[in-house]
Amino acid sequence: MPGTVMPKTATPGPALPWPGPAPAPAQLHRIALVDVNSFYVSCERAFDPALAGIPVVVLSNNDGCVVARSDEAKALGIKTGEPWFKLADAAPRLGLVQRSSNYELYGDLSSRVMELLGRYALWQEVYSIDESFLGLAGTAAELDAQGADIRAAVARHTGLPVCVGIGTTKTLAKFANRIAKQNKHLGGVCNLDTMDPDVVETIMSRVPVTGLWGVGAKLGKRLHALGIRSVADLKAADPALIRSRFSVTLQRTVLELNGTSCLPLEEERADRQQLIFSRSFSAPVTTAAEMRQVMSIYAQQAAARLEREGQHARVLTAYAGTSHFSQKAASFPSVTVRLQSPTSDPVVLTRAAVGALEDSIVEGVPYTKAGVMLSGLSDAGAQPVFDEFVSAHEHRHLGELLGKVADKYGAASIGLGLAGLSSAKPDWTMSRKFSSPRYTTEWEELPVVKAC
Ligand SMILES: [Mg+2]
Repeated sequence: MPGTVMPKTATPGPALPWPGPAPAPAQLHRIALVDVNSFYVSCERAFDPALAGIPVVVLSNNDGCVVARSDEAKALGIKTGEPWFKLADAAPRLGLVQRSSNYELYGDLSSRVMELLGRYALWQEVYSIDESFLGLAGTAAELDAQGADIRAAVARHTGLPVCVGIGTTKTLAKFANRIAKQNKHLGGVCNLDTMDPDVVETIMSRVPVTGLWGVGAKLGKRLHALGIRSVADLKAADPALIRSRFSVTLQRTVLELNGTSCLPLEEERADRQQLIFSRSFSAPVTTAAEMRQVMSIYAQQAAARLEREGQHARVLTAYAGTSHFSQKAASFPSVTVRLQSPTSDPVVLTRAAVGALEDSIVEGVPYTKAGVMLSGLSDAGAQPVFDEFVSAHEHRHLGELLGKVADKYGAASIGLGLAGLSSAKPDWTMSRKFSSPRYTTEWEELPVVKAC
Protein backbone atom coordinates (compact mmCIF):
# COMPACT_ATOMS: atom_id res chain seq x y z
CA MET A 1 0.00 0.00 0.00
CA PRO A 2 1.47 3.39 -0.90
CA GLY A 3 2.50 5.47 2.07
CA THR A 4 2.51 2.49 4.32
CA VAL A 5 5.75 1.83 5.97
CA MET A 6 6.41 -1.80 6.10
CA PRO A 7 7.67 -2.95 9.45
CA LYS A 8 11.26 -3.95 9.31
CA THR A 9 11.80 -7.56 9.83
CA ALA A 10 14.20 -8.06 12.67
CA THR A 11 17.18 -10.01 11.58
CA PRO A 12 17.78 -12.59 14.23
CA GLY A 13 21.12 -11.99 15.89
CA PRO A 14 23.11 -14.54 17.80
CA ALA A 15 21.05 -16.13 20.52
CA LEU A 16 21.51 -14.38 23.85
CA PRO A 17 22.00 -16.60 26.83
CA TRP A 18 18.85 -16.59 28.96
CA PRO A 19 19.86 -14.66 32.04
CA GLY A 20 17.66 -16.66 34.38
CA PRO A 21 16.62 -15.23 37.72
CA ALA A 22 18.94 -12.57 39.11
CA PRO A 23 21.34 -14.03 41.65
CA ALA A 24 20.30 -13.35 45.23
CA PRO A 25 22.32 -10.49 46.76
CA ALA A 26 25.08 -11.79 48.98
CA GLN A 27 24.33 -12.29 52.66
CA LEU A 28 26.94 -10.40 54.60
CA HIS A 29 28.05 -10.77 58.19
CA ARG A 30 29.09 -7.42 59.49
CA ILE A 31 29.99 -5.61 62.68
CA ALA A 32 28.08 -2.51 63.70
CA LEU A 33 29.26 -0.03 66.26
CA VAL A 34 26.38 1.87 67.79
CA ASP A 35 27.33 4.87 69.85
CA VAL A 36 25.12 7.43 71.58
CA ASN A 37 26.00 10.94 70.45
CA SER A 38 27.34 13.06 73.34
CA PHE A 39 25.88 10.46 75.71
CA TYR A 40 25.79 12.30 79.03
CA VAL A 41 24.51 15.50 77.45
CA SER A 42 21.92 13.57 75.44
CA CYS A 43 20.65 11.90 78.64
CA GLU A 44 20.20 15.33 80.20
CA ARG A 45 18.43 16.57 77.09
CA ALA A 46 16.13 13.56 76.93
CA PHE A 47 14.41 14.81 80.08
CA ASP A 48 14.98 18.54 79.73
CA PRO A 49 14.20 19.77 76.22
CA ALA A 50 15.24 23.30 77.23
CA LEU A 51 18.81 22.04 76.87
CA ALA A 52 18.38 21.26 73.16
CA GLY A 53 20.45 23.36 70.83
CA ILE A 54 22.39 25.21 73.52
CA PRO A 55 25.91 24.66 74.86
CA VAL A 56 25.79 22.11 77.71
CA VAL A 57 28.62 20.53 79.69
CA VAL A 58 28.51 17.69 82.18
CA LEU A 59 31.00 17.86 85.04
CA SER A 60 33.09 15.15 86.68
CA ASN A 61 32.87 13.96 90.28
CA ASN A 62 32.59 16.84 92.68
CA ASP A 63 31.85 19.11 89.75
CA GLY A 64 35.57 19.32 89.08
CA CYS A 65 35.95 19.49 85.34
CA VAL A 66 34.20 18.99 82.03
CA VAL A 67 33.68 15.34 81.09
CA ALA A 68 31.10 15.73 78.32
CA ARG A 69 30.17 18.52 75.93
CA SER A 70 27.36 19.18 73.51
CA ASP A 71 28.33 20.11 69.96
CA GLU A 72 27.49 23.72 70.79
CA ALA A 73 29.88 23.63 73.78
CA LYS A 74 32.58 22.12 71.55
CA ALA A 75 32.00 24.97 69.09
CA LEU A 76 32.74 27.42 71.92
CA GLY A 77 36.18 25.85 72.19
CA ILE A 78 35.51 24.18 75.55
CA LYS A 79 37.79 21.19 76.00
CA THR A 80 37.23 17.95 77.87
CA GLY A 81 39.06 18.15 81.18
CA GLU A 82 38.69 21.91 81.50
CA PRO A 83 38.18 22.82 85.18
CA TRP A 84 34.74 24.20 85.89
CA PHE A 85 36.04 27.04 88.05
CA LYS A 86 37.67 28.52 84.94
CA LEU A 87 34.38 28.48 83.04
CA ALA A 88 31.91 29.32 85.80
CA ASP A 89 32.20 33.12 85.53
CA ALA A 90 31.86 33.24 81.76
CA ALA A 91 29.04 30.64 81.62
CA PRO A 92 26.07 33.05 81.84
CA ARG A 93 27.53 35.28 79.13
CA LEU A 94 28.17 32.27 76.89
CA GLY A 95 24.74 30.81 77.56
CA LEU A 96 26.56 27.72 78.81
CA VAL A 97 24.61 25.36 81.07
CA GLN A 98 26.34 22.89 83.38
CA ARG A 99 25.12 19.65 84.91
CA SER A 100 26.70 17.41 87.54
CA SER A 101 27.21 13.81 86.49
CA ASN A 102 23.98 11.96 87.12
CA TYR A 103 25.26 8.41 86.92
CA GLU A 104 22.00 6.85 88.06
CA LEU A 105 20.30 8.38 85.05
CA TYR A 106 23.11 7.60 82.61
CA GLY A 107 23.49 4.04 83.89
CA ASP A 108 19.79 3.35 83.64
CA LEU A 109 19.44 4.82 80.16
CA SER A 110 22.58 2.93 79.13
CA SER A 111 21.12 -0.40 80.16
CA ARG A 112 17.88 0.41 78.34
CA VAL A 113 19.83 1.25 75.18
CA MET A 114 21.98 -1.88 75.46
CA GLU A 115 19.00 -4.13 76.05
CA LEU A 116 17.28 -2.64 73.02
CA LEU A 117 20.35 -3.02 70.81
CA GLY A 118 20.68 -6.66 71.82
CA ARG A 119 17.31 -7.35 70.22
CA TYR A 120 18.67 -6.34 66.83
CA ALA A 121 21.87 -8.34 66.92
CA LEU A 122 23.18 -11.86 66.44
CA TRP A 123 25.64 -11.11 69.20
CA GLN A 124 26.47 -8.10 71.30
CA GLU A 125 29.53 -6.76 73.00
CA VAL A 126 28.81 -3.85 75.30
CA TYR A 127 31.97 -1.86 74.89
CA SER A 128 31.29 1.05 77.19
CA ILE A 129 28.42 2.88 78.82
CA ASP A 130 27.26 4.27 75.47
CA GLU A 131 28.82 2.01 72.85
CA SER A 132 28.08 -1.48 71.72
CA PHE A 133 29.37 -3.69 68.97
CA LEU A 134 26.64 -5.73 67.32
CA GLY A 135 26.75 -8.64 64.92
CA LEU A 136 24.42 -8.04 61.96
CA ALA A 137 23.64 -10.17 58.94
CA GLY A 138 21.85 -9.40 55.70
CA THR A 139 22.37 -8.02 52.25
CA ALA A 140 24.10 -4.65 51.97
CA ALA A 141 20.73 -2.94 51.53
CA GLU A 142 19.22 -4.82 54.47
CA LEU A 143 22.12 -3.74 56.65
CA ASP A 144 21.41 -0.12 55.72
CA ALA A 145 17.81 -0.65 56.74
CA GLN A 146 18.80 -2.34 60.01
CA GLY A 147 21.04 0.61 60.84
CA ALA A 148 18.15 3.01 60.28
CA ASP A 149 15.77 0.81 62.31
CA ILE A 150 18.18 0.68 65.24
CA ARG A 151 18.53 4.44 65.22
CA ALA A 152 14.80 4.99 65.09
CA ALA A 153 14.11 2.43 67.84
CA VAL A 154 16.61 3.95 70.25
CA ALA A 155 15.23 7.43 69.59
CA ARG A 156 11.65 6.25 70.09
CA HIS A 157 12.24 4.24 73.26
CA THR A 158 14.84 6.35 75.03
CA GLY A 159 14.94 9.75 73.32
CA LEU A 160 18.67 9.36 72.71
CA PRO A 161 20.38 9.99 69.34
CA VAL A 162 22.76 7.28 68.14
CA CYS A 163 24.98 6.82 65.12
CA VAL A 164 25.57 3.45 63.52
CA GLY A 165 28.79 2.49 61.72
CA ILE A 166 28.88 -0.79 59.82
CA GLY A 167 32.02 -2.53 58.58
CA THR A 168 33.82 -5.84 58.31
CA THR A 169 35.99 -5.34 61.40
CA LYS A 170 35.66 -3.54 64.70
CA THR A 171 38.15 -0.88 63.63
CA LEU A 172 36.24 -0.22 60.40
CA ALA A 173 32.91 -0.19 62.24
CA LYS A 174 34.35 2.44 64.60
CA PHE A 175 35.62 4.41 61.64
CA ALA A 176 32.26 4.18 59.87
CA ASN A 177 30.61 5.44 63.05
CA ARG A 178 32.88 8.47 62.96
CA ILE A 179 31.87 9.13 59.35
CA ALA A 180 28.20 8.83 60.29
CA LYS A 181 28.66 11.30 63.12
CA GLN A 182 30.49 13.89 61.08
CA ASN A 183 28.41 13.76 57.92
CA LYS A 184 24.89 14.73 58.87
CA HIS A 185 23.51 14.00 55.38
CA LEU A 186 24.08 10.27 55.99
CA GLY A 187 21.23 10.31 58.48
CA GLY A 188 23.29 8.77 61.27
CA VAL A 189 24.13 5.51 59.49
CA CYS A 190 27.31 4.75 57.58
CA ASN A 191 27.55 1.32 56.00
CA LEU A 192 30.91 0.92 54.31
CA ASP A 193 29.42 -1.75 52.01
CA THR A 194 27.06 0.70 50.36
CA MET A 195 29.40 3.67 50.30
CA ASP A 196 31.31 4.51 47.15
CA PRO A 197 34.80 3.01 47.77
CA ASP A 198 36.42 6.13 46.26
CA VAL A 199 34.60 8.31 48.75
CA VAL A 200 35.75 6.05 51.61
CA GLU A 201 39.33 6.30 50.34
CA THR A 202 39.08 10.09 50.13
CA ILE A 203 37.75 10.30 53.68
CA MET A 204 40.52 8.00 54.91
CA SER A 205 43.12 10.22 53.28
CA ARG A 206 41.66 13.30 55.00
CA VAL A 207 41.16 11.95 58.52
CA PRO A 208 44.32 12.23 60.62
CA VAL A 209 45.64 8.92 61.88
CA THR A 210 44.90 10.03 65.45
CA GLY A 211 41.21 9.93 64.53
CA LEU A 212 41.43 6.15 64.64
CA TRP A 213 40.36 3.97 67.52
CA GLY A 214 43.37 3.39 69.74
CA VAL A 215 45.76 5.84 68.09
CA GLY A 216 46.49 8.60 70.57
CA ALA A 217 48.44 11.81 70.17
CA LYS A 218 51.75 10.28 71.29
CA LEU A 219 51.53 7.40 68.84
CA GLY A 220 50.39 9.87 66.18
CA LYS A 221 53.61 11.85 66.57
CA ARG A 222 55.76 8.75 66.12
CA LEU A 223 53.75 7.78 63.04
CA HIS A 224 54.16 11.28 61.60
CA ALA A 225 57.91 10.82 61.81
CA LEU A 226 57.47 7.88 59.40
CA GLY A 227 55.30 9.95 57.07
CA ILE A 228 52.11 8.24 58.25
CA ARG A 229 49.68 11.08 58.74
CA SER A 230 46.27 9.93 57.63
CA VAL A 231 44.16 6.84 58.14
CA ALA A 232 44.82 5.98 54.47
CA ASP A 233 48.59 6.17 55.11
CA LEU A 234 48.31 3.70 57.97
CA LYS A 235 46.07 1.42 55.94
CA ALA A 236 48.72 1.32 53.21
CA ALA A 237 51.59 0.73 55.66
CA ASP A 238 53.42 -2.59 55.78
CA PRO A 239 51.93 -4.52 58.73
CA ALA A 240 55.25 -6.26 59.45
CA LEU A 241 57.09 -2.95 59.61
CA ILE A 242 54.42 -1.50 61.89
CA ARG A 243 54.77 -4.50 64.16
CA SER A 244 58.54 -4.19 64.38
CA ARG A 245 58.56 -0.40 64.85
CA PHE A 246 55.51 -0.15 67.07
CA SER A 247 53.49 -3.02 68.45
CA VAL A 248 51.37 -5.98 67.59
CA THR A 249 48.39 -3.85 68.65
CA LEU A 250 49.03 -1.31 65.91
CA GLN A 251 49.72 -4.06 63.42
CA ARG A 252 46.24 -5.37 64.17
CA THR A 253 44.83 -1.93 63.46
CA VAL A 254 46.52 -1.98 60.02
CA LEU A 255 45.10 -5.43 59.28
CA GLU A 256 41.67 -4.44 60.52
CA LEU A 257 41.68 -1.34 58.28
CA ASN A 258 42.26 -3.72 55.39
CA GLY A 259 39.34 -5.91 56.36
CA THR A 260 41.05 -8.68 58.35
CA SER A 261 39.29 -9.08 61.66
CA CYS A 262 41.84 -9.32 64.51
CA LEU A 263 40.12 -7.96 67.59
CA PRO A 264 38.20 -10.73 69.30
CA LEU A 265 34.71 -10.27 70.51
CA GLU A 266 34.76 -10.05 74.21
CA GLU A 267 31.18 -10.78 74.87
CA GLU A 268 29.52 -13.12 72.45
CA ARG A 269 25.90 -13.92 72.85
CA ALA A 270 26.21 -17.03 70.76
CA ASP A 271 23.87 -18.87 73.04
CA ARG A 272 21.93 -18.31 76.18
CA GLN A 273 24.33 -20.40 78.18
CA GLN A 274 26.05 -17.41 79.70
CA LEU A 275 25.09 -14.27 81.45
CA ILE A 276 27.64 -11.51 81.48
CA PHE A 277 27.71 -8.34 83.46
CA SER A 278 30.59 -6.30 82.13
CA ARG A 279 31.39 -2.63 81.73
CA SER A 280 34.28 -0.35 80.94
CA PHE A 281 34.92 2.22 83.65
CA SER A 282 34.76 5.96 83.09
CA ALA A 283 37.86 6.32 85.26
CA PRO A 284 40.35 3.48 85.82
CA VAL A 285 40.14 1.40 88.98
CA THR A 286 43.57 1.12 90.55
CA THR A 287 43.16 -0.52 93.95
CA ALA A 288 42.11 -3.94 95.15
CA ALA A 289 39.61 -2.31 97.51
CA GLU A 290 37.85 -0.53 94.65
CA MET A 291 37.87 -3.71 92.60
CA ARG A 292 36.21 -5.60 95.47
CA GLN A 293 33.46 -3.01 95.38
CA VAL A 294 33.11 -3.29 91.60
CA MET A 295 32.92 -7.09 91.81
CA SER A 296 30.41 -6.87 94.61
CA ILE A 297 28.14 -4.58 92.61
CA TYR A 298 28.47 -6.54 89.37
CA ALA A 299 27.85 -9.89 91.05
CA GLN A 300 24.67 -8.56 92.60
CA GLN A 301 23.51 -7.13 89.28
CA ALA A 302 24.18 -10.49 87.66
CA ALA A 303 22.38 -12.29 90.51
CA ALA A 304 19.39 -10.00 90.10
CA ARG A 305 19.24 -10.78 86.40
CA LEU A 306 19.46 -14.53 87.06
CA GLU A 307 16.68 -14.20 89.58
CA ARG A 308 14.50 -12.31 87.09
CA GLU A 309 15.10 -14.91 84.41
CA GLY A 310 14.42 -17.78 86.79
CA GLN A 311 17.83 -19.31 86.27
CA HIS A 312 20.65 -20.76 88.31
CA ALA A 313 24.35 -20.66 87.51
CA ARG A 314 26.90 -23.34 88.14
CA VAL A 315 30.09 -21.48 87.30
CA LEU A 316 31.24 -17.93 87.91
CA THR A 317 34.08 -16.16 86.16
CA ALA A 318 35.35 -12.84 87.45
CA TYR A 319 37.66 -10.86 85.22
CA ALA A 320 39.25 -7.47 84.84
CA GLY A 321 41.50 -5.90 82.29
CA THR A 322 43.62 -2.93 81.42
CA SER A 323 43.07 -1.03 78.18
CA HIS A 324 44.09 -2.86 75.00
CA PHE A 325 45.84 0.32 74.00
CA SER A 326 47.61 0.94 77.26
CA GLN A 327 51.32 1.28 76.75
CA LYS A 328 51.80 0.70 80.46
CA ALA A 329 51.37 -2.45 82.50
CA ALA A 330 48.94 -4.92 80.98
CA SER A 331 46.97 -7.14 83.32
CA PHE A 332 44.03 -9.38 82.43
CA PRO A 333 43.22 -11.50 85.47
CA SER A 334 40.39 -13.95 84.98
CA VAL A 335 39.40 -16.51 87.56
CA THR A 336 36.71 -19.11 87.21
CA VAL A 337 35.06 -20.71 90.22
CA ARG A 338 32.78 -23.70 90.22
CA LEU A 339 29.96 -23.08 92.63
CA GLN A 340 28.99 -25.76 95.10
CA SER A 341 25.55 -26.08 93.56
CA PRO A 342 23.56 -24.22 90.89
CA THR A 343 22.44 -20.98 92.45
CA SER A 344 21.20 -17.44 91.94
CA ASP A 345 21.89 -16.48 95.53
CA PRO A 346 23.43 -12.98 95.63
CA VAL A 347 25.38 -13.74 98.79
CA VAL A 348 27.03 -16.81 97.28
CA LEU A 349 27.71 -15.09 93.97
CA THR A 350 29.07 -11.93 95.57
CA ARG A 351 31.43 -13.91 97.79
CA ALA A 352 32.60 -15.93 94.83
CA ALA A 353 33.20 -12.89 92.61
CA VAL A 354 35.01 -10.85 95.26
CA GLY A 355 37.08 -13.83 96.35
CA ALA A 356 37.96 -14.89 92.81
CA LEU A 357 39.95 -11.78 91.96
CA GLU A 358 41.24 -11.20 95.47
CA ASP A 359 44.81 -12.33 94.76
CA SER A 360 45.03 -11.30 91.11
CA ILE A 361 44.58 -7.55 91.22
CA VAL A 362 47.85 -5.66 91.05
CA GLU A 363 47.74 -2.50 93.14
CA GLY A 364 48.36 0.63 91.09
CA VAL A 365 47.58 -0.93 87.72
CA PRO A 366 44.86 1.03 85.90
CA TYR A 367 42.05 -1.43 85.18
CA THR A 368 39.59 -0.07 82.66
CA LYS A 369 37.05 -2.84 82.61
CA ALA A 370 35.78 -5.75 84.64
CA GLY A 371 33.03 -8.24 84.49
CA VAL A 372 31.24 -11.14 86.07
CA MET A 373 30.23 -14.01 83.83
CA LEU A 374 27.85 -16.71 84.94
CA SER A 375 27.74 -19.94 83.00
CA GLY A 376 26.41 -23.44 83.29
CA LEU A 377 22.95 -21.92 83.42
CA SER A 378 19.88 -23.97 84.08
CA ASP A 379 16.29 -23.21 84.88
CA ALA A 380 15.84 -22.82 88.61
CA GLY A 381 14.75 -26.13 90.01
CA ALA A 382 15.65 -28.05 86.85
CA GLN A 383 18.33 -29.99 88.69
CA PRO A 384 17.49 -31.53 92.02
CA VAL A 385 19.89 -30.21 94.62
CA PHE A 386 20.67 -31.97 97.88
CA ASP A 387 19.43 -29.84 100.69
CA GLU A 388 22.81 -29.53 102.35
CA PHE A 389 24.13 -27.70 99.30
CA VAL A 390 21.43 -25.06 99.33
CA SER A 391 22.76 -21.98 101.11
CA ALA A 392 20.95 -20.72 104.14
CA HIS A 393 20.07 -17.48 102.34
CA GLU A 394 18.59 -19.34 99.45
CA HIS A 395 16.15 -21.13 101.75
CA ARG A 396 14.93 -17.72 102.73
CA HIS A 397 14.75 -16.49 99.14
CA LEU A 398 17.07 -13.61 99.81
CA GLY A 399 17.62 -12.87 96.11
CA GLU A 400 13.92 -12.51 95.53
CA LEU A 401 13.58 -10.28 98.55
CA LEU A 402 16.47 -8.02 97.50
CA GLY A 403 14.89 -7.73 94.06
CA LYS A 404 11.54 -6.73 95.54
CA VAL A 405 13.07 -4.11 97.82
CA ALA A 406 15.13 -2.67 94.98
CA ASP A 407 12.09 -2.56 92.71
CA LYS A 408 10.04 -0.78 95.31
CA TYR A 409 12.57 1.61 96.82
CA GLY A 410 15.19 2.03 94.11
CA ALA A 411 18.39 0.21 93.25
CA ALA A 412 20.45 2.09 95.82
CA SER A 413 18.11 1.24 98.69
CA ILE A 414 19.58 -2.15 99.45
CA GLY A 415 22.77 -4.04 98.80
CA LEU A 416 25.10 -6.55 100.25
CA GLY A 417 28.44 -5.83 101.84
CA LEU A 418 30.49 -3.56 99.66
CA ALA A 419 27.56 -2.72 97.43
CA GLY A 420 25.42 -1.92 100.44
CA LEU A 421 24.67 1.21 102.31
CA SER A 422 27.23 0.85 105.07
CA SER A 423 30.21 0.83 102.74
CA ALA A 424 32.04 3.89 101.52
CA LYS A 425 30.16 5.50 98.66
CA PRO A 426 31.84 4.91 95.35
CA ASP A 427 33.45 7.86 93.60
CA TRP A 428 30.52 8.45 91.35
CA THR A 429 28.22 9.42 94.22
CA MET A 430 30.06 12.52 95.28
CA SER A 431 28.97 16.12 95.56
CA ARG A 432 26.77 17.09 92.65
CA LYS A 433 25.50 20.62 92.97
CA PHE A 434 24.07 20.88 89.47
CA SER A 435 22.53 17.46 89.22
CA SER A 436 19.34 16.79 87.34
CA PRO A 437 16.82 14.47 89.06
CA ARG A 438 17.28 10.70 88.86
CA TYR A 439 14.26 10.59 86.60
CA THR A 440 14.19 6.88 85.95
CA THR A 441 15.46 5.23 89.13
CA GLU A 442 13.91 7.15 92.06
CA TRP A 443 10.18 7.33 92.68
CA GLU A 444 10.41 10.80 94.26
CA GLU A 445 12.28 12.12 91.28
CA LEU A 446 10.05 10.88 88.48
CA PRO A 447 9.42 13.57 85.89
CA VAL A 448 6.00 15.16 86.23
CA VAL A 449 3.98 16.06 83.16
CA LYS A 450 1.44 18.84 83.60
CA ALA A 451 -1.48 18.79 81.22
CA CYS A 452 -3.13 22.19 81.19
MG1 LIG B 1 29.29 8.43 72.48
